[in-house]
Amino acid sequence: MMRLGDRRELARWRASLRTGKLGFVPTMGALHAGHDSLVARARQECAAVLVSIFVNPLQFEDQQDLARYPRTEEADCARLEALGADAVYLPSSADMYEPSSCVRVQPGRVGELYEGAARPGHFSGVLTVVLKLFQRARPDRAYFGEKDAQQLFLVRRMAADLDLPVAVVACPTVREPDGLALSSRNGRLGAADRPRALSLWRALCAVQERYAAGERRPQRLGEIMRWKFAAEGVRPDYAEVVDEQTFLPPAAGTDGAWRAITAARVGAVRLIDNRLLRP
Ligand code: AMP
Repeated sequence: MMRLGDRRELARWRASLRTGKLGFVPTMGALHAGHDSLVARARQECAAVLVSIFVNPLQFEDQQDLARYPRTEEADCARLEALGADAVYLPSSADMYEPSSCVRVQPGRVGELYEGAARPGHFSGVLTVVLKLFQRARPDRAYFGEKDAQQLFLVRRMAADLDLPVAVVACPTVREPDGLALSSRNGRLGAADRPRALSLWRALCAVQERYAAGERRPQRLGEIMRWKFAAEGVRPDYAEVVDEQTFLPPAAGTDGAWRAITAARVGAVRLIDNRLLRP
């Protein structure tokens, strides 16, 4: 596996690829089985697989969160090698952003809601770095997890709205046996917090049950999630149902696909999760 330390090394490696598709998996490292599933899917579908590891300061509005974000570069590289990735791009902040850098991608209205409301500027930072990585790597296919559903929605919109020549591929959320979505942040959950972390998944299961039983009032579905959280003694940042096509609250009476989304702070850790609702 090639280790690419800066954009020039990446460009040289990219130019050496002759035929077949390039699959790209952008990550912030601290890799777990969720990331593995994206790399494995890329490996199945593409001739070459590139993974990036970059903890993007632009998408952290909370400097403490940035400082505490886990960094496990050597273990990550060994993991990627075992998964059969062809190259890993490990840029520094200086390689990514020139000191005078100032132009940013503007995510629009959806970027201000839910995760965007809790983390002002977050999605502008995410889309800016993803666009830069796409420009540098020029992948045919890029792999993102449904775990970050709002991010996936906005990356898809960016690719469509800015005519990017890349196919955005969504991969299902990988969970622990009890339902907790894998996250690089789970390692920071204390022993006492671990059972409470499951309240997100329990709320998503409760809303799924009521949806399958025929409940179609979006407000009501949100309330069901919030009651479930309250019963567990956890106060969510948000617990809502959105239309999969718009990532906005579904208009009453519409019959498209809906997704339940939630975020909650458990102990010192902020967790997010979501679930597509099935009839
Ligand atoms: P991150 O390193 O957290 O920025 O995540 C990199 C990519 O892995 C994103 O596309 C995430 O949505 C995806 N990802 C993170 N956790 C999971 C998971 N539990 N299952 C599937 N994909 C995930």
